[in-house]
Amino acid sequence: MGIRSIDVHPVVLRYREPFRIALGTEVESQNVVVRIHTDSEVVGIGEASPFEVVTHETPQTVMQTLDKIAPTLIGMDPLMIEQIVETMDQAVTENPSAKAAIDMALHDILGKIAGKPLFKLIGGFRKDVLTDITLGIKEPKEMAEEGVKAVKKGFKALKVKVGVDPKEDFERIKGVREAVGSDIAIRIDANQGWTTHQAIQILKKLEPFNVEIAEQPVKAHHIRGLAEVRRNVSIPVMADESVHTPKDALRIVNEKAVDLINIKLMKSGGILKAKKIAAIAESANVSCMVGCMSESAIGVTAGVHLAAAIKNIQYADLDSDIILQDNLVLNGGAKLRASRRVPLQKPGLGILQVDEKLFGKPVKTYE
Ligand code: MG
Repeated sequence: MGIRSIDVHPVVLRYREPFRIALGTEVESQNVVVRIHTDSEVVGIGEASPFEVVTHETPQTVMQTLDKIAPTLIGMDPLMIEQIVETMDQAVTENPSAKAAIDMALHDILGKIAGKPLFKLIGGFRKDVLTDITLGIKEPKEMAEEGVKAVKKGFKALKVKVGVDPKEDFERIKGVREAVGSDIAIRIDANQGWTTHQAIQILKKLEPFNVEIAEQPVKAHHIRGLAEVRRNVSIPVMADESVHTPKDALRIVNEKAVDLINIKLMKSGGILKAKKIAAIAESANVSCMVGCMSESAIGVTAGVHLAAAIKNIQYADLDSDIILQDNLVLNGGAKLRASRRVPLQKPGLGILQVDEKLFGKPVKTYE
């Protein structure tokens, strides 16, 4: 079996409302979807959701990367995933979200050829995963109201975005906790927005508010800062922007800098390397989350399969398709049932129908 052609579809997906985090505000996400056609008629689908401030990628660089990578993959066996990932890495360094799109489509093909849902082929640990829903940065009072709305919809965990102003951030988290009561998990994500000193101060003050995870309190490169925060507060500290690759994971666990690692397919370059990060973390008793950038249901579904597959991935933040208004997947993909994401018992990713209108014709076909 061989890869016959690769179609590339840039897509623009609007958010339901402007989405603000410490790194900036987004109104839409420009993603790139690939479809890999094999000579046995099986087609795999994958998605890149580049986020420049984290992976230094734009839709344009994703297209340029695919231009270098895709021609070399034609004729290769799509089930030789590690070989293909190595071929991509030899062709181009970095550019993880472009590579993630290819890796995801190959895993979809793997499941379709095997006739099994992907999560059962790459581990198979649980049948569904609990996700949080993210509250973007707003006035503290508004965030508390939105937390209540989310809980009414059935969400059991909230990810509260902070990292702009420590005083206000404290009010944000206190306000959400008081509004939603004690049964809801609250995770906070500062997206690198605090100094080490600020992080320690605010997280100490937050200790009575039962915060489950404090994600990326300080700058991505500041591993010593993460370790210092971890030593000084009781809330578990999670790395996100600090860990992209398996090597990053090894370094951070060696330095005992965090309690948890947030894996994202867009940072790791896909499922194959995400599994390696989870394994490195497990060997150091560090649990993982699978998070997302601004993927549609295509990329989010791949994240759900990964999270369902691997024991050490104990947390999920797989909600970007819920926050986006435009929906690429019309039928199939991971279902949302209350706070749980459920992969379908269908071959591969289980993406059954996409919105061909949003897709349009491929802007490029490699064959
Ligand atoms: Mg994060």
